[in-house]
Formats: sequence, C-alpha cells, structure tokens
Amino acid sequence: MSTKRTKSSFRAMSTNRKLESIFLFVTGRCNAKCKMCFYAEDMDKKEKDLTFEEIKKISETAGQFNRLWVSGGEPTLREELPEIIEMFYKNNEIKDVNIPTNGLKPDRIVAWVKQIRKNCPELNINLSLSLDGFGDTHDVQRGVPGNFYKAMGTLKLIEKNFADDGRVLKNLATVITKYNETEVEDLMVWMLGRFHLSNHIIEAARGMTRDDGVKILTEPTLRALQDKVVPIYNVYGERMAEETGGFRKPIARFFYLGFIRTLYNVRATNIDHPTPWGMDCTAGETTLVIDYDGRFRACELREPLGNVKDYDCNIAKIMASDAMKQEIAAIGHGDKANCWCTHGCWITSSLVFNPRKMITQVYKGYREMKKLNRPVDISEDVLQSIERKYALDVEKLTELGVRK
Ligand code: SF4
Ligand code: SF4
Repeated sequence: MSTKRTKSSFRAMSTNRKLESIFLFVTGRCNAKCKMCFYAEDMDKKEKDLTFEEIKKISETAGQFNRLWVSGGEPTLREELPEIIEMFYKNNEIKDVNIPTNGLKPDRIVAWVKQIRKNCPELNINLSLSLDGFGDTHDVQRGVPGNFYKAMGTLKLIEKNFADDGRVLKNLATVITKYNETEVEDLMVWMLGRFHLSNHIIEAARGMTRDDGVKILTEPTLRALQDKVVPIYNVYGERMAEETGGFRKPIARFFYLGFIRTLYNVRATNIDHPTPWGMDCTAGETTLVIDYDGRFRACELREPLGNVKDYDCNIAKIMASDAMKQEIAAIGHGDKANCWCTHGCWITSSLVFNPRKMITQVYKGYREMKKLNRPVDISEDVLQSIERKYALDVEKLTELGVRK
C-alpha cells in the first residue's frame, strides 16, 4: 500500500505573523567533526542538554505551531527523540517535523521513524541525510572515516522501509565547500540515478565554520552551479508531482520548482555580501531557535537573547518578551532592515509570510527553471562512469544494494 504525499504546512501562505516554526537543538553532542560545522564552538562548551521535563514545559507553553525543526549536534544521539517529537505532535499539533542526520545510526533512524509514524499518523516527516561528496571527499569534510559507505547503507535502508510512504520524505543535503565544489554536479546526477529520493538540497557553508577557508563560493560560481543542476530539480519536481497525485500535481510541481529557484536566487545575491531579500526576514516573529542548553535566538545566525530557563521555559513569555521585541526591531523591516544572509530555512520560511513577494518570485523562479531545463542522462553507462571517475568500491555498493 502506498501513502500519497500530503500538503506540507510550509506551502500555506499567511500574512498573520505568529510562531510557525521552532528550531530545537535536542542535543549538543555529535559523532562527526565536520569541517564546515557552524555550531562547533557552541558544542565545544559542553553544556548540559535541556532535560525532557524542560522540553515538556516548552511544548506546553508554545501553543499551536506548524513545524518543528529538530537540530543539534546529531539529533539521533538524543535518547528521547521520538518521545519529544510525539509530545509536540500532541501538544502543539505540529504538521511537519524536520530531522537532519549524518546517517551514522541507521538502525535507530529506521526504528524511530517507524515509532513516530505509528504514534503520529498525520505528521509529515522530512528526513534529511547529509552527503557532501564521493568516498573520501565526504569522509574528509565530515571528519569520519568510512562515513560515505555508511551513509549509502543508511539511505538504502530508509528507502527499503519507507519506499511507499508519502509521509516520510527522503531528502539529501550537501554543503558546498572547497572540498567538494567540483564534484557536486556529478554527485547530484549519481544520487538521482541510484536512489529514489524526494529532494536534494545544496547549501552554502554558513556562519563561523570549524575550519577556516572552507567557504569558497562567490556569486558567479554559485549561480553557475545552481544553473547547471536545474535539470536535476526538474526531475525531482516530476517525482514530487507523481507522488502528490490528482489535481494538485501541477500545483505541486510549480511550487516546488519556483520555491527552489527563489531560495537559490536569494542565496546567490547574498553570498558575497548581505543584500536585501526584497521582503522581511520574519526571524523572531515566526521562528524561534532554542539551543541545546536552553539559550534562545531569533535565528541560528544571531546572538542568543537569554535562556529559556530564565523564563521558566515558557515560550509564550519569551515571544512576548522585551528581549525578543528589541531583537525584531534590530533585524528591521522593509527597506530599513539591516540583516541579510544566505540561510535557506529562513529565506523559505519568510517567503511564506510575504505572500505577494512569494507569488511573484515563485512564478519567476518556475519560468527560469523551465527555461534552463534539458534532459538529464542517468543511464547505467553514465552512472558507472561516475563510479569509475571517483574510484568507488563497486563491490561494496553492490553489497549495500546501491547498484545491481
Ligand atoms: S555539521 Fe552537524 S553533523 Fe557535522 S559536526 Fe556539526 S552538528 Fe555534527
Ligand atoms: S536575515 Fe538571516 S541572519 Fe538576519 S535575522 Fe534573518 S535569518 Fe537571521
């Protein structure tokens, strides 16, 4: 039996700015050492994670909101992760949860997603596995030997268990750095051909990275890469439309392609220097970030404004606090805004709350995607030539079920 993909809360436009997303860092522990990690300094402080009881208070005081973005550290290292998600589903009626993972705990991921599916039947689960390159490129960037083949095995396991489940989106995220810049296009083609994924997002490294000098993108190089991979997104757009089904097919394709292009356009204009997005960033109005130790912020890139524990973990109080009001004023609005960045989560989240901008940009983005489209060759010959080019271990890939 197959479950059709359902409408995400993300695509519901609104002018009413209220808390829509909480970014909850469920742990400060991680089993990787990524060179481009923007959170390394915070994790190195080795503060205690918020307790389950403290997170419960957060959930009980946040009211209804749509999307929980789980973050960390590595979220699968938080023992009570499924129970935490279930709590937000019951108390806050969340519609979507994002779970990023480095894929080092495959059995746990599968078991926990099954548990969440059983206990939260209406919840859309966006699993997002990190994959930065082929073989050593991925392992070096992630600081874990053998991670690439482990990630391959994890993805195949996820595909096997949730192949027909439209509530479990199987996404990939690649962070572009000096290590993988030249192989991103090949990686995207190969992943498209060897797996049946829902989406493959490319990110620019952001914030203060663990290692210096990993950020190498400029506006022209990022735009060139984004243009080259447009055909791949057209294939994902078709896949999404197929999985959506019925009369919503063309709408799903339109929004998917238009959103991706808009996000990538805004990001490209901000890669060299902050440039106005042409719409308000709604950080602090519609989003709240809670660090693993309870510090809170309007977005991941701005400074903490306090600790939830000083507000008795009461989210309603925090959102109405002077600290948050001052932060929103400091970020600014419209032409007077003074804070811009490349952060995809906030660009897409802010688009939803700027409907007029969204419709124009998404329409423009969709047309650009269609114009730049061309056929993508994912024939066996092409996939095998990529495997030879990057000296992949064919025996291992066959054993993992990645190739026949
Ligand atoms: S980027 Fe994520 S997986 Fe990598 S070290 Fe940082 S928290 Fe861990
Ligand atoms: S523009 Fe970026 S850094 Fe500034 S508030 Fe928004 S998300 Fe944060």
